[in-house]
Amino acid sequence: MTIDARGCVVCPGLVDIHAHLRYPGFVEKETIASGTSAAVRGGFTTVCAMANGEPPTDSPARVEQLNAMVQSEGRCRVAVVGAITRNLAGSGPADWSALKHEGCTALSDDGNPVMSPELMADALRASERLGVPVIAHEETRDGTDAGAPNPCWTCAGEAAMVERDIELVRRYGGRLHIAHVSCDRSVELIGAAQAAGLAVTAEAAPHHLDLSLCEDAPSLGLPPAHGCRKVNPPLRARRDVEAVRAGLSDGIIDSVATDHAPHALSEKLGGMGPAAFGFTGFELALPLLLRLVRVGQLSLVQAIARLTCGPARTLGLDAGSLAVGRRADICVFDPLSEWTPTRDTLVSKSKNSPFHGQKLQGRVRFTIQAGEVHSFAGDHALRAARA
Ligand SMILES: [Zn+2]
Repeated sequence: MTIDARGCVVCPGLVDIHAHLRYPGFVEKETIASGTSAAVRGGFTTVCAMANGEPPTDSPARVEQLNAMVQSEGRCRVAVVGAITRNLAGSGPADWSALKHEGCTALSDDGNPVMSPELMADALRASERLGVPVIAHEETRDGTDAGAPNPCWTCAGEAAMVERDIELVRRYGGRLHIAHVSCDRSVELIGAAQAAGLAVTAEAAPHHLDLSLCEDAPSLGLPPAHGCRKVNPPLRARRDVEAVRAGLSDGIIDSVATDHAPHALSEKLGGMGPAAFGFTGFELALPLLLRLVRVGQLSLVQAIARLTCGPARTLGLDAGSLAVGRRADICVFDPLSEWTPTRDTLVSKSKNSPFHGQKLQGRVRFTIQAGEVHSFAGDHALRAARA
């Protein structure tokens, strides 16, 4: 088989270590079939499913159920993240070693913080023993930042939780990964922890690298408090965006993770109050990172690394490399191709994105997953591919 990749970049299949596939429980938002199709359209060959389905992935039986659905309708590899606490309730621990033995690649209550330091310390100790990282959702419900639309997640709160968890690693050991870093102070704390030799890694979401709360609102043609801009952690100030970008380029943050969070459009209408949190992410991650390449914030090699080998290394996944003998998971993208996300151009069942109508550059042409070629190159290249 020949693939016409003229003008394209060929890189490892992208790896997303933070996604919400909404199975089980929310098939009106996304299914395993629609979510993994969107992932493949965005160049991803491995994605990690967070545990907050309904019911949550907090037992081996639930992991098995999710794996069975992926086996039957998944279009890319799905690694499973098990819950830290039973029912994500923050009180009783899940059976971590059973989750690990069922194949979970990480432990996380993502969507909820683990407020109990004792429980978090236990989870971190288990993470060291079992060899699976704890992914921390660093939110605390302590008030409101001036101007922040979401009442519950302040920069001070995020930094306090990051600081607490780094201190727990320092005292008790463990392998900590900080999800969706959004504030300048968090980046500083994580950098200092790494410099001290602690096993702490971090990810950033494409929207936190691209948008700030107020400065970008006019270019989006939307009031800053429109529900389509509501996400957790919230969009921050420009200085936070700059700090997260710098952290990504320095390697303090070595993964970009989408936090793909599909919701029906009806759930995103109205103001900040009633709207659901989150954006669809798989199909926009690569073009949004390429924006940072164009403005000189990242090299192309760095951008690809943050979407491939960085996240694969963080969770110990066999992915993100084109080395001989590794899996032939490959992404072929045209870095110059322009397109505009709309309800019609996105594959995910949910279309919730603040980037609708913005011109993006960079489009995936082929995603090769376990030997299967998914072509998005149109008729001409398809014929070439079959020649
Ligand atoms: Zn989260």
